[in-house]
Order: sequence, then C-alpha cells, then structure tokens
Amino acid sequence: MSITNQRLEFSTFAELSDSILKGHRLTADEALALLETSDADTLKLVSAAGTLRRQFFGNTVKVNYLVNLKSGLCPEDCTYCSQRLGSKAEILKYTWLKPEEAVHQAGLGIAGGATRVCMVASGKGPTDRDVDRVATMIETLKDQHPDVEVCACLGILKDGQAQRLKEAGADAYNHNLNTAESLYPEICSTHSFDERVSTVQQAKSSGLSPCSGLIVGMGETPEQLVEAIFALRDLGADSIPVNFLMPFDGTPLQGTWNLTPLACLRILAVVRMACPETELRMAGGREMHLRSLQSTALEVANSLFLGDYLTSEGQDAKADLAMIADAGFVVLGAENRDTTAAPDQGETAPDTGCSGSCCSTANTACSSQSEEPALRRRGAGTQETPNA
Ligand code: SF4
Repeated sequence: MSITNQRLEFSTFAELSDSILKGHRLTADEALALLETSDADTLKLVSAAGTLRRQFFGNTVKVNYLVNLKSGLCPEDCTYCSQRLGSKAEILKYTWLKPEEAVHQAGLGIAGGATRVCMVASGKGPTDRDVDRVATMIETLKDQHPDVEVCACLGILKDGQAQRLKEAGADAYNHNLNTAESLYPEICSTHSFDERVSTVQQAKSSGLSPCSGLIVGMGETPEQLVEAIFALRDLGADSIPVNFLMPFDGTPLQGTWNLTPLACLRILAVVRMACPETELRMAGGREMHLRSLQSTALEVANSLFLGDYLTSEGQDAKADLAMIADAGFVVLGAENRDTTAAPDQGETAPDTGCSGSCCSTANTACSSQSEEPALRRRGAGTQETPNA
C-alpha cells in the first residue's frame, strides 16, 4: 500500500507510523494527504494509526461519563449547540442540579464502568459562586470515589477559578477549541477562539490536565481541520475528544451532514498520527456518524463517553461495554471486572434493523444519518434512570 500523494516522503502508512514512533512529528502536508486517503485504503491507514494506539495505550479503553449540571438557557450563540441562545431544539432545560443529585448521577456512571466523570454546565463561563457550587460537588464526589478522575467543563474561566477547582480536587478541565481559528467567526459571534485557548492555558497552568477537542463536520475544509488538530497539539491537550456534529433541528446547523463513517475514521487516524501519546476520545455523534464502524474506531481512539450526552441520548451503555469486549479491548481500571456479560434480556436496544446498534432503550428512533439526534429524556434533570 502506498501513500500516493507526491508531497510525502513516506511511501506507506506503516512507514509513517514507524517514523512517528521514532519521534517524527506529523506535518500539515502529511495530515492533508492522510485525509485524502481513499475509502478503499482507509482501513490500512487505521491499522497504521492503530500501532501508535497500541504502543501507548495497549488494549485499554478509558470510559468517561457526562453529568449535565445545567442544561440549556445559554446566552451564547454557538451554531452547533442545542443549548444556544434562540435554539428551538426541544431539549431538557434546567438550572443547576443540587449537589447531592449531581453526585448521585456521577455515581451511577462510575458504577457503569466510568473512571472519569465530566461535570458540565452550559453558559459562557461560571461566576465565582458557580465555581464554589461545583467545587462542593467535586469534594463530595472525591470523598466517595477517590480513584475516579473528575473533569470540570464550565466554559471560559476567569482568574483564580481554575485554582479553586484544582483545590477542590478536580483533575482536569475541558474546554474544546472545536474548530479552526479561521472558521471560528462563522461558528460563534459571542466569544472568540482566543478566549477558548486562554481558558485551556489557564487550566493547564493551574495544574489541571487540559482536555480540549473538536467538533468535526461543521463545514470546515481539510486545511481547517488540520489547522484545528495542530492547534490542539500546540496547546498540549492531554485528552482530545472528537465530536461528530449532531445537527439538531432548531439550530443553524440543522440538516448539515458532511461526514461518512470512513471519513470519521480518517479524521481519528490523523489526530492519532498527530498526537500519538494523547488520549483520543470518540465523543458525541459517534453513533450516528461512525455507525457500524464504532468498534473499528477503537483501533485508533482509546477513550469514549459511556451513555448519554448533554442533550441527546447515546448508545445503550451495556451495548458499549459489549462492543469494547467484542473488539478485544478492556475497560481501563476494570481489567479484573467482568464487563463481557451480554446485556440483560429486555435491556438491549430494540432491533430496528440498524447495523449501527445506535438505538436506546428509551427511544426507538434510530439516530442514523439524516435523522435528527434523539433528545435526552432520562438521567440528570429528570426522574428517569440514566443510561449508564
Ligand atoms: S457550546 Fe457552551 S457556550 Fe456555546 S451555546 Fe452551547 S452551552 Fe453555550
């Protein structure tokens, strides 16, 4: 198999990944050439990127769990977001969860296998009072689950707020760059790309592990995608969640379908080649965009979110754990726990003929391409049992 692009010095994907293992840094030309890989050759690219994944993460998969502490009602205008100002998406809307409810929800995700809990709140950024509120949740959660990592995701931080979260026991802070600086003005007008970069830097300098990632499929060019990936590499993110746009009805990106499953694999492979030692998480939208190739994506990504997302429902948690085991991977931190048992009868997703197994117990509408995301109606902010 050869990399046909004339800009490259490497003749095969394997040669390139071997070189990366020896210290070569992926160049922008190489990244663009990899994105141009044909569908027929994409699994060879995945295999080469997979050698990097195996080198640094073995066969483990890190399982993360989201708790949406405050949903909707955001004054910002991010075009992709169902929680944005003016969004007509019929999502759950609620203000801050009580601390005991937040900790309870997190505990259910931990019981489901998560070793990191991501505590998320909508909004441009927190007040100091909000940070105190989340700090209380983190302290309680850490008392109960000292080995579980806690990541806060509260938006743009002001001076001193990252330190306060760190003192409360937070391990990480998430703030996604989402896309390229050159595309950012088209994605959001109420805050800047620089503010996002600055927040990640503040978190990092306060001793929090920086988590920052992407939303792909928003109309970015290949050059802009590479620009965004390299910005994350330059930022030194410890973990990179890659979200695949879920085009919610009622948002400006409604009806935007730019991705195929193989294109998603190529994007993940390029992130792996660019950042070989970084946790790479397949995040929101994986079910509808990767579909039946989700387990193939685990050859490149070493991390995923279990259960539901902030405003939409994800694949059944038990189906995720089965997918991990079926593909020969083990959940990080649960190597001695049996996560291979088949889902209980009655708890599996209904058979709707979807090869992607992307339907949930609570929603029989399949979230395959061209169908809008299934809105979350369980877990945090509801009386219903979460998907964990
Ligand atoms: S991404 Fe965050 S800041 Fe932007 S609209 Fe959504 S909740 Fe608000």
